[in-house]
Amino acid sequence: MNIALIAHDEKKELMVQFCIAYCGILSRQNLCATGTTGKMVAEATGLEIKRFLAGAQGGDQQISARISCNEIDMLLFFRVPNNPKPNEPNDMDLLRLCDMYNIPFATNIATAEVLIHGLERGDLDWRNYMR
Ligand code: PGA
Repeated sequence: MNIALIAHDEKKELMVQFCIAYCGILSRQNLCATGTTGKMVAEATGLEIKRFLAGAQGGDQQISARISCNEIDMLLFFRVPNNPKPNEPNDMDLLRLCDMYNIPFATNIATAEVLIHGLERGDLDWRNYMR
């Protein structure tokens, strides 16, 4: 599974803790992330992560483009619900694309845990046959 990780600044530490907790499962996936999120998670976990540009430089748009090309199977986007910083990715475009291409996504840690457990159980294996 190709999993994309993005976290707004206030949620980056939460993303790091999440990835530490699920490092075993995540180590068996292909991970990519916006620049700063990817750097922090990689440094904390040792996970191999393809890093795109920082969000402010268009990293979220690089991930959007991959969603459109059916190259992302899951998006974990820990976002600040109120008043994200002006340079932080606009979730609506990313989430609109996920809905358009039937990509499972989580915008908070509770849903992310459900998705990760579902992934581990094989609930998302159908995506492998959709390519
Ligand atoms: P970053 O991008 O991981 O490069 O910080 C996400 C964001 O801008 O919030």
